[in-house]
Amino acid sequence: MNKSHRNRKRPWGIFLAIILAILFGSYVGKDGGLLGVSFYTIFDTLGTIFLNSLTLVVVPLVSSSIISGIARIGGEGGFGRLGIKMFTFYLGTSLLAILIGLFFVNLIGPGNAHIVPPISAAEPSQLTQLKEQIVEGQTLISVLVSIVPSNILNALTHGEMLGLIFFSLIFGYAITKIDSHSASVLKGFFQGIFQAMIHFTHIIMKFLPYGVFCLVAKVFMVSGIGSLESLGLFFLTVVLGLMVFSLVGLPLLLKYVARVKPMRHFKAMSPALLTAFSTSSSSATLPVTIDCVEKRAGVSNRICSLVIPLGTSINMSGSALYECVAAMFVAQAYGIDLSFTTQFLVVFMALVTSIGVAGIPSASLVALLVILRVIGLPPEGIGLFIAVDRLLDMCRTTVNVFSDSCCAILVARSEGETQVLAHDIVESP
Ligand code: ASP
Repeated sequence: MNKSHRNRKRPWGIFLAIILAILFGSYVGKDGGLLGVSFYTIFDTLGTIFLNSLTLVVVPLVSSSIISGIARIGGEGGFGRLGIKMFTFYLGTSLLAILIGLFFVNLIGPGNAHIVPPISAAEPSQLTQLKEQIVEGQTLISVLVSIVPSNILNALTHGEMLGLIFFSLIFGYAITKIDSHSASVLKGFFQGIFQAMIHFTHIIMKFLPYGVFCLVAKVFMVSGIGSLESLGLFFLTVVLGLMVFSLVGLPLLLKYVARVKPMRHFKAMSPALLTAFSTSSSSATLPVTIDCVEKRAGVSNRICSLVIPLGTSINMSGSALYECVAAMFVAQAYGIDLSFTTQFLVVFMALVTSIGVAGIPSASLVALLVILRVIGLPPEGIGLFIAVDRLLDMCRTTVNVFSDSCCAILVARSEGETQVLAHDIVESP
């Protein structure tokens, strides 16, 4: 067994790194340092370099995987069927997540407790930044328009995933319509880029535990476990919702619809889940997710190369749940009437805006401003829970990634793939 293979099989290093980082980060706080250099600066720098190295792979990986995937499937005329299945699972799982969130926020009523602190002095600057983002056009309409970029190079350099995906889908389909010699040259070319990017990912994954340590320690140095105390009820509601969705809802789908063992899937996905938790970015986790779904869960490249990149951009079940709970929380805290219409509006908006949420840290906050505006609440409402947003981001990103991987399993099984999760994952000692 070669070394990179062994690395892929061992998530314990990453797990240990997370535990040590939580302890270390909470203990030293933001001011701790060594020889005059603050730990925060050190971890921030190393963490950013690590995150950059993962993000570096995303654009070539997404485009090559979708183009080569569609070029292969489009020729068989199977994309229509696959597309319908993918979108049904994406929307179905996100709606399920939102309804679970809605149930818990009504049951627990975290905003009714009136224990929420007012906006703190440090927060307005972040709020202003978010408002500017909205003013700059991060609205629903602009998300819709960004699906069709006017310049693909511009979309590539700005990492505009929806535009990139749209271009790749059509480009891949166009390949199936040209003469066979040119088509096979292009297919080979993009398949080659895809494989090289996967190897690139394996190289980065060797540094995973160290990168994870820096990123998690940094978060806990700033947020600290203390921030949980004042917002405990809100934190609890979100975490409970996310847990029920990912530990009950999705496993039931895996067991009864996909007919696979949910535990095996958790094991197979553990490196990707831990990476998502540490990076708070499903986009940056994408290379690791593809690797786990294909190599550890055994989904074919044909399905994985489409379902995972698309899901990473549009299937944000964890974020959708969070948006619903957070909007309801603010509504409760402001004491507004939570009629059926308001709740329906929150559910609908959480579903729609989660599609446009980018796979980057704190992206949900922008979507939340849109929802608050629609239900007539002041944007300042965000200040009620912003202190715990970063910690909850880690949790919802993990759920986003897990939900994408479950969709890949569901689609693969419905396409008759029998090798999916057929064997137990044997972790090396
Ligand atoms: N951080 C999340 C992700 O990357 C998006 C969000 O909800 O803020 O999936």
